[in-house]
This record gives sequence, structure tokens and C-alpha cells, in this order.
Amino acid sequence: MNTTARMPVIFFGHGSPMNTLARNPYTEAWRQLGAMVPRPKAILAISAHWYTRGTSVTAMASPKTIHDFRGFPQALFDIQYPARGDPALAARVRELLAPVEVGLDQTWGLDHGTWSVLVHAYPDAGIPVVQLSMDATKPAGFHYDLGRSLAPLRDEQVLIVGSGNVVHNLMLMQRGVGAPAYEWARRFNEAVRAALASADHQSLVEFERLGEDARLAVPTPEHYLPLLYIAGLQAEGETMAFVVDGYEAGSLGMLSVAAGMSAG
Ligand code: ZN
Repeated sequence: MNTTARMPVIFFGHGSPMNTLARNPYTEAWRQLGAMVPRPKAILAISAHWYTRGTSVTAMASPKTIHDFRGFPQALFDIQYPARGDPALAARVRELLAPVEVGLDQTWGLDHGTWSVLVHAYPDAGIPVVQLSMDATKPAGFHYDLGRSLAPLRDEQVLIVGSGNVVHNLMLMQRGVGAPAYEWARRFNEAVRAALASADHQSLVEFERLGEDARLAVPTPEHYLPLLYIAGLQAEGETMAFVVDGYEAGSLGMLSVAAGMSAG
């Protein structure tokens, strides 16, 4: 169509669903990011909260807002993110990921991994959004490779975002404001930051080599894996920018990163 710049790729550390309703340093950073990125024609989101058998992509014209959590205030259940879908993009994703089979989904929608950050980055909900599920039966390297396969979309004005958390241990969360981060949380996050800073993708994929720190920071992989799609999408020579970082409740890492930001 035209020859506008390659779109950046972003990993959002989304943390608590309550960030949807908050204004804090994380949400401000997400807001600024949305304002800085060239306006995409569509968004492809890989959320920690759509972790499935097999790989699917949302293919409906009007994805519903899914409130996939319990025990939160009614205000959070009242949130709607009425972005349109993009069936043509869903078909394009399916084509790019072949021979991996990708189901065209008509039942999911937008989960809070996606909308809790997009309400800040794109509050007008004016850009169509498609979600790609992550196949829970596959190893880390599979997810990294799928990210690589999606790279042509960056030149088709599609913004690809991953939404999860580098450090995510709900069992060990500490209540109360200002709970210090666990030492293992800091060590794991710093190791991931070092790998991101040097584009050492192999270390990101082989995160389990970090042993006990990895077992505590990534007790289940779904919040970490969206980062591997974004790493896979990082082009040769691109810098990974650290957008915002911090710890919540001792065991949630709020790191967000973006590659290709200078391309605009
Ligand atoms: Zn989450």
C-alpha cells in the first residue's frame, strides 16, 4: 500500500487488572507509548490470558470484552473495550504461521491482558484488535519462532504487542503498599534485562537455566511467553528500549519493553 515505517513491537508488563482503573507510573508509560508509536492500522495482541491447546486467532468482526477474573470491584467488570476485530488480519496471521495450524476463533474476544493496557495506550479503542493464543503444549522455542514468523506484519502497519509479566508469582504475592521485591525476583528480572539489552535471545528462550530463580519467577510460563514473541520480532540491529520497570506486591515484575521505537 504505502511505504511508511516499520512498526515497533511492544511487551507490556500488565500486573494487576486494577491498573485498568489506575493512573500510576506504569499506566502513564503505556499512555506515552501509545502516543509515540505511529498510529497502526491494526493491533495483534498476544496475551498471557489466552493460553490454549493449539494456536488460535480471533477472527470475529466485533470481539467482546472478556472479564476473565474474580474478586475485583464492579467498576472493573463494567469496563468495555469496544475495538473492532479484523478478520483479514486473522487470515493473514494464519497464512504467516503455516505450516503451524491456526484456528480461526469465533468465541474468545479481548481478555484483560489485552484491554488493561490498551485502555491506556489507545483509550479511544479506535484501532481494530486481533488476539493470538499461545499453545500451552509447546516449548519456549516454539513461541519465539512464531514471533519471528510474524515479522512481515511490522511492515504492514500492524502493531504487535505481548502482554504478560517477566516475574509473575501470585502464590507469593505480599499484600500492603511498598512490599519489597523478593531477591529472586530482582535477580531474575535483572538477568532478563541483561539478555534483552544484548539481544541474547537464546538466554531468553532458555530462561529455565536460571534454576531456582526461574522456577520462582515463572512458576507457570504463560506470563513470560509473550516476551518471547516480542524478542522474536526484534529486527537485527534494533535496540530494545526499557519503557518502565518496577515490582508490585513483591513478586510481580512490571517491566515493559519496546523495539523499533526509532523507526517512526
Ligand atoms: Zn495477567
